[in-house]
Amino acid sequence: MTKKVVLASSNRHKLEEFRAILRGWDVVFASEAGFTDEVEETGRTFAENAEIKARAVCKALGVPAIADDSGLCVDALGGAPGVYSARYSGGGDRENRALLLKNMEGVKDRRACFVSAIAFVFPDGKIIRAEGKTYGEILPEERGEHGFGYDCLFLSDDLKKSFGEATEEEKNSVSHRGRALRALEAQL
Ligand code: IMP
Repeated sequence: MTKKVVLASSNRHKLEEFRAILRGWDVVFASEAGFTDEVEETGRTFAENAEIKARAVCKALGVPAIADDSGLCVDALGGAPGVYSARYSGGGDRENRALLLKNMEGVKDRRACFVSAIAFVFPDGKIIRAEGKTYGEILPEERGEHGFGYDCLFLSDDLKKSFGEATEEEKNSVSHRGRALRALEAQL
């Protein structure tokens, strides 16, 4: 029998990535389970934010909850946008990518990594944490149409193509979230 876990996110791409990897679990959006509040991400690290989101949903609904906090860390920008990846430009994904390209104009060192921290919180207070990273470079222009966020600007070391050019399966096999989810699954 599959067990239900509520995902503290409204990102459909994330939901699909979670479902593809957490096979024994029925992963549903928090909004579908009746949780519609915006949880403020006040943490200083990805791990803190993941825990804040999962705890808020678990406490409100009384069921197991899972959250991922993730982002892109660019070496030449001192780790930015980091925990501010979703809010980098104040606009949406397209504006965030445009700002990143602008800030990387003329920059030679294009090394970057995606980070994902996951927290799985149970109603009895138990928490399981996992983290995953994936490395690559920031492309000078967008490549590919798949994925979301910064995918089409991230040239993966593992895949030798951008995440925007990768299939969902290819991305999951090497992505930060895929790695974090497999590390989590090993602890469940
Ligand atoms: P979160 O939803 O608060 O974790 O914000 C994550 C943000 O980081 C997203 O809005 C994207 O901008 C970026 N991000 C995280 N994971 C990915 C990914 O797999 N591909 C592309 N961008 C990502």
